Amino acid sequence: METQFDTVIIGKGPAGITAALYLKRAKHSVVVIGKDYGALGKAEKIENYYGLEKPVSGEELARIGIAQAENLGIPVLSAEVTSLEAAYGQEPYRFTVTIKEPDKKTDILAKSVLIATGKQRTGLKVPGFEEFKGKGISFCAVCDGFFYKNKAVAVIGNGAYAVSELEHLYNLTKNITLFTNGLSLEGEVPDGVRVVKGKIVKVAGEQTVSGIEAVSDSGTATELFPVQGIFAALGTAGASDFAAKLGLETGTGADSSTLITDKDMKTNFPGIYAAGDAAGGFLQIVKAASDGAIAAKSIGAELKELK
Ligand SMILES: Cc1cc2nc3c(=O)[nH]c(=O)nc-3n(C[C@H](O)[C@H](O)[C@H](O)COP(=O)(O)OP(=O)(O)OC[C@H]3O[C@@H](n4cnc5c(N)ncnc54)[C@H](O)[C@@H]3O)c2cc1C
Repeated sequence: METQFDTVIIGKGPAGITAALYLKRAKHSVVVIGKDYGALGKAEKIENYYGLEKPVSGEELARIGIAQAENLGIPVLSAEVTSLEAAYGQEPYRFTVTIKEPDKKTDILAKSVLIATGKQRTGLKVPGFEEFKGKGISFCAVCDGFFYKNKAVAVIGNGAYAVSELEHLYNLTKNITLFTNGLSLEGEVPDGVRVVKGKIVKVAGEQTVSGIEAVSDSGTATELFPVQGIFAALGTAGASDFAAKLGLETGTGADSSTLITDKDMKTNFPGIYAAGDAAGGFLQIVKAASDGAIAAKSIGAELKELK
């Protein structure tokens, strides 16, 4: 597989696929990476999108969009992006995108990146989680891990993203507990990392985090696990995780997982664009597709300047 592209698009929903169609037709090299069918895959019936003579399921529309891209020669990878970082000394490539497929990890270099990861679930609805965000609860091991050198930390999550955050922390402390919050663990954790599979019921603390209360392995009672820091890596890495690592501007409060863009879908980080639900606003297919087209136009203009 090629590992250098003009543009890497994260997300194979309407925003990502539309952007890919425009970029490819403008002769740019592009790859789309998507873990699943996203929000579109959950829609039972779509009737309000242009050109549909009959209602179609979201899953079918997603499949058709991906086939349309592949028919144009665009690689659409079924994989999860676990990390997006600036690439230094690799000009004109400015970003490294790390992807996790079932059996391997690959780094892809990109001149520009479009984040089209849809709307993200960022937290847990348990007492203490909102209260201790930024007071012991972090969303970025690369950014905040150093503050917890040799301390007791927790990672919350069960998939490839949680494992990649955990691997980063493992260089700083060996006192790590992974809480899968009732889900089964997908992947392997380094030696010595404790895994707690019970549901989390509370984040404990006073000024800052002091522990996590979770259902114990016996499944009958809850247990308080003392930790000084918590790294939330729930589900798949999404817009706000990439934002935390690169310093991308986001909304606040309920919009904290929305990436702020200008009218050309540019974020505040040169070379990074956002589109669709990840960029907030009207959470509909028509807007996601429109964002994707606009992002492709501005990415194309920037790529011409880089060449
Ligand atoms: C139940 C339901 C019904 C809906 N009904 C309608 C409707 O009738 N009409 C309408 O217009 N809209 C509807 N919507 C909204 C519509 O589905 C979304 O607005 C639209 O899908 C957004 O497109 P998107 O490309 O921004 O994101 P999504 O379609 O959510 O796609 C996001 C993509 O990003 C990928 N992704 C995320 N993180 C990563 C990662 N770390 N690595 C790799 N891939 C990643 C996902 O796997 C997915 O491929 C509905 C939504 C839901 C949930």
